[in-house]
Amino acid sequence: MIKVSHLSRSYGQFQAVRDVSFEVGKGQIVGLLGPNGAGKTTVMKILTGYHYPSTGDAWIKGIDVQADPLGAQALIGYLPESSPVYPDLTVLEYMEFMAGVRRLPTADREEVIDRVLKRTAADGFRNKVIGHLSKGQKQRVGLAQAILGDPEILILDEPTTGLDPNQILEFRHLIQEIGKEKTVILSTHIMQEVEAICDRVLIMNQGQIVAEGEASDIAKNLQGEERFKVRLKGVTASTALESLARVPGLKSAPTVAEEGLDPLLECAFPKDSGGGETLFDWAVSQRYKIVALVPQTLSLEDLFVQLTKETPHEQNV
Ligand code: ATP
Repeated sequence: MIKVSHLSRSYGQFQAVRDVSFEVGKGQIVGLLGPNGAGKTTVMKILTGYHYPSTGDAWIKGIDVQADPLGAQALIGYLPESSPVYPDLTVLEYMEFMAGVRRLPTADREEVIDRVLKRTAADGFRNKVIGHLSKGQKQRVGLAQAILGDPEILILDEPTTGLDPNQILEFRHLIQEIGKEKTVILSTHIMQEVEAICDRVLIMNQGQIVAEGEASDIAKNLQGEERFKVRLKGVTASTALESLARVPGLKSAPTVAEEGLDPLLECAFPKDSGGGETLFDWAVSQRYKIVALVPQTLSLEDLFVQLTKETPHEQNV
């Protein structure tokens, strides 16, 4: 549905996006996750035809965005980072204006506008001036204009930025609901947002994609080891540790996480090496009783911090 191939974009000497490639299948909700300045907005602006790439290509449902930006835009609903931008218009006037821009048939406009305002719960303030709306209300209006004309693809740039915690939850729910029928790319710097909404995540840092996968698997897959915590019964920590340290195949020396007669030990095996089974075999051979064996995975948050911890390069030339 969306394909991006070796995309780069420079602003003067500064390379904001560097050789980015990815695909988004029909019906997926994909999160573009990255710290400030990672290049998320630039990618989205290229996809929506507002920026040209310096090199590389992007296609929306087979349409080359550079060759036919209007054709691509007709398939996309776009919620830019700051929206909507007409503070003096009422919500209804703005929606009527956007319906004109989208060339919706005049006879259908009233009904279509009515439907999207209800869908985004923006109906209650349709006669208010946009400049007087709260941030959350403005975001609803922004989303309403994005889904006007029922586009197949939604591109949402940091849709929940500036909302309060209740509004964030409501807005995420709304995106999930709308996303059931659409292909969605949303950008965010909030890990929980990706975990809550997205099927897949692309992590960007300093203009590049540094990790990609299913939100639930990405941390696990990128972790180069299997790490376990094992709690034993009726053996001292030092005895168990000494014995565990002799188990073949460990990636590093095991450690004691908690002392006592039911000690908790921590150890790591190489990825996909069957560490859990090895630990069970070891405990049986030593006649130790395992009361808990818990695989330790990095959270997406840990991973995000690890992948993006270098300070953003303001001058990368
Ligand atoms: P944020 O989360 O802060 O919105 P982002 O990941 O969306 O960040 P971009 O807005 O794509 O990042 O910006 C990427 C880099 O390109 C930043 O360093 C930014 O300062 C720079 N940049 C963006 N637009 C321009 C521009 N028009 N001219 C010069 N530099 C720009």
